[in-house]
Amino acid sequence: MKKEVVRLWSAPAIESELHIYSCKNDMVRPAMLVIPGGGYRQVCESTEGYPIAKRFAELGFRCFVLIYRVAPHRFPAPQLDAYKAIEYIRSNAESLNIDPDHIAACGFSAGGHLAASLSILADELGQQQNAPNGVVLAYPVISSGKCGHQGSFRNLLGKEYAKLKKHYSLDRRIVPGNAPAFVWHTAGDTVVNVENSLLFAGSMWKAGNKCELRVHQIGNHGLALGYGRKDIAPWPQMAKDFFVHNAGFRFPGDKKTADVVLTFDDATKNQFEFVAPLLKQYGFGATFFPCNFDARWREKYADTLMTPQQLAGLQKMGFEIGNHTDSHLTLTDVPSEKCEQEIAAFQKYLNDAGVENVTSFAYPCGVYNDEVVSAVKKAGFTLARTTDRSAWDVKNCDPLKIPAIPLALDSQAEFYKAIDMARPGKPVVLVLHGVPDIVHPHCNISEKFFMMMLEYLSALNCRVMGLAEAYKLLK
Ligand SMILES: [Zn+2]
Repeated sequence: MKKEVVRLWSAPAIESELHIYSCKNDMVRPAMLVIPGGGYRQVCESTEGYPIAKRFAELGFRCFVLIYRVAPHRFPAPQLDAYKAIEYIRSNAESLNIDPDHIAACGFSAGGHLAASLSILADELGQQQNAPNGVVLAYPVISSGKCGHQGSFRNLLGKEYAKLKKHYSLDRRIVPGNAPAFVWHTAGDTVVNVENSLLFAGSMWKAGNKCELRVHQIGNHGLALGYGRKDIAPWPQMAKDFFVHNAGFRFPGDKKTADVVLTFDDATKNQFEFVAPLLKQYGFGATFFPCNFDARWREKYADTLMTPQQLAGLQKMGFEIGNHTDSHLTLTDVPSEKCEQEIAAFQKYLNDAGVENVTSFAYPCGVYNDEVVSAVKKAGFTLARTTDRSAWDVKNCDPLKIPAIPLALDSQAEFYKAIDMARPGKPVVLVLHGVPDIVHPHCNISEKFFMMMLEYLSALNCRVMGLAEAYKLLK
């Protein structure tokens, strides 16, 4: 890799540098600012600088190494050097081909304290605009408490050590909104105790921030890329995956982000009261497939079902409403006239409720045959959803036999597998019921699980749509 050296400050007395490593292709990429350790007394560039930049460059980051001021320079000189570096990277994002909203900092040991402080102290130092969008902390110095590496704090704080060491113990300073962090350490570290990382991660989780912690049993301080240890070597890839899944980092050439279609069946009231407002917050679309069930059933469970006004309300919020038959009859069991009646009766119900433009249909229980399909076609629907479990090949699939994957019982395995099936032009259609579903417990999804789903889809930067919208976009 070719290196270019930039002086961070115009004042000749400040020798801090940014080493820029050029990457071959010219697509926009996330950036990684590597901050070597050295106890705020030296900068270990040869072990925790260039080799780390090289590894992250292989993983698709555009990489930089920070050569920052250390003792006898004191706080906040190292911090200001790092902020200056991020300012340089962000303000030159266009010429450097960098995504200015996805700049991470990766620090080692005392460099970990420096990297972590960039997000945590940004307000205190008036540097919000120069804060990183994520941090990687390798065996970091965090605490100045009992487990702390006092040498680093003495070098950073000088004469102010006794007065300020508690204030710059970063585990005590974490607040909601600090940048997502990937942290790793070895339990056998005799220089910087693993407790530093435990305290950091604990405070991050308590504050509701995103943090992933990996602790290796064997190994002392300063393992950098692992020096041949196969268990430690994968951490840069894991850090990258963490940013992709938790902080919206995107890499050109990586597998495309998934297109997802959300559908909600059977008209539970919480679809209007809980699901729809949450979808709106995320900017997600969806299709709702209500039905009426039979009169006796409906009377018994009236409290749990959406009213006609609520159905119209969903459409006013911008969601698609489809037809799922009147009484949720298994259509393959009845003659086609009965099929047609079922569909027409619910169409009238929707029209009376003020719901318009109903073009999608969902087969009750996902079952269909040729007769049923022609009844649906005859009724004028352009799209119909089955529960044939595969991704939806929009261009090649019969639009009246759209496959979809039902999710229930908070199954993480089913959810992640389903999302993994999506490919460019081939969204995955998910079928959900009530959140929660008291009437049909076998279809239940809890509020907590549903919120996790939406958070994951959002972090993956998925396009989340209704059925008709996806068809229009991808056909
Ligand atoms: Zn149903």
